Amino acid sequence: MHTLAPVAVSSDPVPPTARTNTPSVLFVDQSGQLGGAEFSLMPLAATWGASREVLLLSDGPFRTRLESLGVPVSLACEASVSGIRKDTLRLNWLGALPGIVRQVRAIARHAESFDILFLNTQKALVLGALGKPLHRKRIVWYLHDVMSSEHFGPLQRLVVRWLTRYAVDHVIANSRASADSLVTLAHCATEDVPVVHNGIDLEAFSRADAPDMGALRRQFGLPENVYLAGLFGRLAPWKGQHIALEALARMPDLHLVLVGSAMFGEEAYEKALHEQAARLGVQDRLIFAGFRDDMPAWMQAVDVILHTSTEPEPFGRVIVEGMAAGRPVIASAAGGVTEIVNHGRNGWLVQPGNPAALVDAIETVRRAPAMASALVREARAEVAKRFSVDVYLERMKALLARAGNGGKADKSA
Ligand code: UDP
Repeated sequence: MHTLAPVAVSSDPVPPTARTNTPSVLFVDQSGQLGGAEFSLMPLAATWGASREVLLLSDGPFRTRLESLGVPVSLACEASVSGIRKDTLRLNWLGALPGIVRQVRAIARHAESFDILFLNTQKALVLGALGKPLHRKRIVWYLHDVMSSEHFGPLQRLVVRWLTRYAVDHVIANSRASADSLVTLAHCATEDVPVVHNGIDLEAFSRADAPDMGALRRQFGLPENVYLAGLFGRLAPWKGQHIALEALARMPDLHLVLVGSAMFGEEAYEKALHEQAARLGVQDRLIFAGFRDDMPAWMQAVDVILHTSTEPEPFGRVIVEGMAAGRPVIASAAGGVTEIVNHGRNGWLVQPGNPAALVDAIETVRRAPAMASALVREARAEVAKRFSVDVYLERMKALLARAGNGGKADKSA
């Protein structure tokens, strides 16, 4: 792996278009669904100033969104490979071997006409990097995960460690937490893993300010004149929706809306949440809203935004979005979250997996509206300063230009 510092060297020949500041890029993402990695790729692919294409390894709404932004998209789907789960990667991948080989070849074939292969997810990394002897392109991996044993099985971690050392040219991480986990796993140097936080469209998240709360809640069928907490994100055990349900049971006048769906085979967890709600007797104060496209308005329809992940969150776009939407955010203090939320200044941090601490935090924020407003003011300023789409694109493009230049700084830039 090569550092992106100006003195870095790469053994690859410099392709012709890389001599200008903007190399051509093939972006690869395993998902057709919309998650944090996919939302972060959208503005980059949409505004890339040279030839680019997104290759998806599964079809879905992500393709339609990219196409509506004018981004060329291709598909290379293999059902047997899509079925492999990151935390259960064991010998079950053997049956998927023919599909894996086909996808490795398909990525390599697509990569032929580009300078850089930009791998945006774990499976894209594995399949794209395994094909390096075929395509011989410079590989940039945008890491969106904390590479810990809580999130990934031992074989997956071993493969990532090996690929990071021997096939990937440059890694960019979505947070210091993600970067540090890779440094620990692959024993690479900290400066080899620069961090680029996701950017959020502050204007889009502030825009829904105009309609009043009552109108928004009526529009969404949410209860009016109650204190309503919102938890946004896919339903998954480590996202900790069950912790929010525990807190709900301990606060008889609190209402809660869960926005998001089970996306990657987490349907059993969704079912378990419904059973938990029935057991706790909180169904009449709980709404499952499913996946929603209009997140700014949904966020502004609640009084407080909760983030309850029980494992370190790699970044947590929903936290920055909540800050931009102008609602106080209470978040689990682990992983990338602590790079975003400064406790008591722009948000409120709680111990992960602790319903009692969550109840305390909700009570504190609820009883102190002036403090909540101050948190919101600071939060919006923080988003504008550190998490704007402009800042994100500027850093990402500079690093990619440098990667296209063989890891050297562009003197003309
Ligand atoms: N999201 C959405 N609709 C939903 C639930 C989530 O558009 O119903 C979006 C959310 O706004 C955020 C992304 O999905 O931009 C989730 O990103 P995050 O980094 O919070 O979590 P990840 O899914 O990457 O673990």
